[in-house]
Amino acid sequence: MTNLEFYKNLPRKQCCECGEYFEEQAESYLQECERCFSRKHE
Ligand SMILES: [Zn+2]
Repeated sequence: MTNLEFYKNLPRKQCCECGEYFEEQAESYLQECERCFSRKHE
């Protein structure tokens, strides 16, 4: 599998806070993008 195919197959999630789409990290269970998450959890 090429890198391009790998990235295309990544599921995209929508942030429940700002509505931005972000790439789901393998270990992530978050419903928020990193920006909103770090804002709430700083
Ligand atoms: Zn967000």
